[in-house]
Amino acid sequence: MLTESPVAGWGPRFELDDWRARFGVIAGITGRGEANDPFDFALGESPPALVLDRWARLQSECGASGAVVSRQLHGIGVEWHSGRSNGLRILDGKDGHATSTPGLLIAVTVADCIPVFLHDPTTRSIALLHAGWRGTAAGVLRAGIRLLEAQAGISVEDLVMHCGPGICGSCYEVGPEVRRAILPEGEGGFSSCVDLRAELARQGRAAGVRGLTRSTMCTKHHHDSFFSHRGSAGTDGRMVAYMMLLP
Ligand SMILES: [Zn+2]
Repeated sequence: MLTESPVAGWGPRFELDDWRARFGVIAGITGRGEANDPFDFALGESPPALVLDRWARLQSECGASGAVVSRQLHGIGVEWHSGRSNGLRILDGKDGHATSTPGLLIAVTVADCIPVFLHDPTTRSIALLHAGWRGTAAGVLRAGIRLLEAQAGISVEDLVMHCGPGICGSCYEVGPEVRRAILPEGEGGFSSCVDLRAELARQGRAAGVRGLTRSTMCTKHHHDSFFSHRGSAGTDGRMVAYMMLLP
């Protein structure tokens, strides 16, 4: 277990102090904000100015020269970003980002889905993935690891992996088709719940990752701190999970 700590200053944010201290990596997530002033980062078709202002402020708080995010598909598309960019780039159809460029903020939006943080201290490269049940079943984690191997030349046994705040195993009730899609055959017993972080950790271990941690925070249990798609019957906004190599 490894848990995010609240960040002092602007906006509700939570980061892994341990990763900043040990690796020079920012790995964090925003929170829900106040009921009358939700701290929403949803991109939608065209994000309102208020949301774009939040994105710009997040970059400046992190000391980022640029940021990249995508409208997501619950797929396995992970994009490699080389070189610097200025401002916020909004792509379409990607569910993860990877880079070895310091100062480039990579981000995914979440509200129950799991943000998966990958870092290779040897090559100083990072990836951040959006993993709901569809992405987990389809192999977004494997896709992210393969991309780091291909683009940064990482060795998977050097990777550290953290499954951040998301819906927990006792809050995530699913139908049999979802259980069949993500659990190995014969596992799960008669429970109608699925623990996405446990399944992602299992996939990580199977791929050869040794340094695995999981957040203790559940977006539905801690609905006062986080947006939760399930906890709000689909009406909530979106948090942003973000990651950056410090220069
Ligand atoms: Zn929970």
